Amino acid sequence: MHYLEAVKTTRDEIISRNVQKTDQEASFPKEAITAFGKNGILGLMSDASLGGQGLGLDEAAAVIESIAEVCPSTAMVLMMHYSATAVIEKYGPVELRTEIARGHHLSTLAWSEVSSRSHFWAPSGTAEKVGDGFILNGNKTMVTSASQADSFIWSSKPAEGEAASSLWLVKKYQEGLSSPAAFDGLGLRGNDSAPMQARQMKLSSDSLLGADGEGFDIMINTVLPVFCVLNASASIGIMDGALALAIQHVSAQKFEHLNSSLAELPTIRAYLAKARIQADMTRTLRNDTLSAIKENRADAMLRVMEVKAAAGESAMSVTDICMRVCGGAAFRKDLGLEKLFRDARSSSIMAPTSDVLYDFIGKAICNMPVFG
Ligand SMILES: Cc1cc2nc3c(=O)[nH]c(=O)nc-3n(C[C@H](O)[C@H](O)[C@H](O)COP(=O)(O)OP(=O)(O)OC[C@H]3O[C@@H](n4cnc5c(N)ncnc54)[C@H](O)[C@@H]3O)c2cc1C
Repeated sequence: MHYLEAVKTTRDEIISRNVQKTDQEASFPKEAITAFGKNGILGLMSDASLGGQGLGLDEAAAVIESIAEVCPSTAMVLMMHYSATAVIEKYGPVELRTEIARGHHLSTLAWSEVSSRSHFWAPSGTAEKVGDGFILNGNKTMVTSASQADSFIWSSKPAEGEAASSLWLVKKYQEGLSSPAAFDGLGLRGNDSAPMQARQMKLSSDSLLGADGEGFDIMINTVLPVFCVLNASASIGIMDGALALAIQHVSAQKFEHLNSSLAELPTIRAYLAKARIQADMTRTLRNDTLSAIKENRADAMLRVMEVKAAAGESAMSVTDICMRVCGGAAFRKDLGLEKLFRDARSSSIMAPTSDVLYDFIGKAICNMPVFG
């Protein structure tokens, strides 16, 4: 089956049925993720020789966009899995790559810390060389799929030297690893973004991904393009989902005393037009970002940073417009719009946050060192 058809089937048969429960009960979308394991979507970006689909970022973006139209929580779980897979494909053991390729393993990133907050590139959790292995300690603020993932790409200070960070492969049942509280958020309520702690967590030396101290380089060059493009794709899906709901509502609802629909009000159509333009501009920027990455263009990293900020901010303003044109009806849960409005607020504060990206982009266009 074509990968997008597989996504659509899961979306229509499983995700749509569970979407309200996922939000209201903050329940993890396990049934959908299990289905994505079976139909090849978890292994979409894995090497074909290991049983994966061998597809790239373009296809992953289309998958995330399609799911986010209906359930952004599910889209974000998958987005974090693809971001972690990018690291594992390059630096992880072949057994684990095979597990992911065959859809038997869910992974995620455990980067943001209590102390350095959204500045994920500067972890203060430690790694100490002890005998043949390492002992890690650290406090992560929010880890998507915290209680459900089979592995975590964990960041810490390097064991030795002055570099910013090292990355580690941490398995689910690792001794010393815990998640002290459940996630009860404003939006993306199903994605289980709970805190995690490492206390005297003993890792073998083959848990190190890349070299000790290479974490920053992997974060920026391997993960950031995947994370930013897919996060932006989730925002695009949210905008499309919200616009579809709003257009359906204003077209169907009537002022009976005037015998006219809400859509017959020019003000409402103008608001919707502005929202459509914003969503379409974002998709165009996302597609250009994909081209810039593929062609290794000089502006690729600038586009990567721009697209996440643009999409996150646009999703907030588009869902705001959709709420406005649907009036009091949008304030109720039955329309489904207020959920997308809440979910849309996550992207701008997921690291790198919009404000941090504005700082980075501003430095880049003023010819200053971006990450200095
Ligand atoms: C739904 C969800 C899922 C998440 N999943 C994960 C995950 O799987 N893995 C993971 O590692 N993390 C995850 N996170 C954490 C996320 O990446 C951020 O680290 C976190 O949201 C930042 O929150 P904070 O309170 O620490 O922000 P703070 O760092 O305290 O930021 C507060 C404000 O200050 C602004 N700010 C900070 N630095 C600057 C600057 N230099 N210039 C200008 N403004 C600045 C920020 O933009 C923000 O507006 C998730 C977050 C959410 C909301």
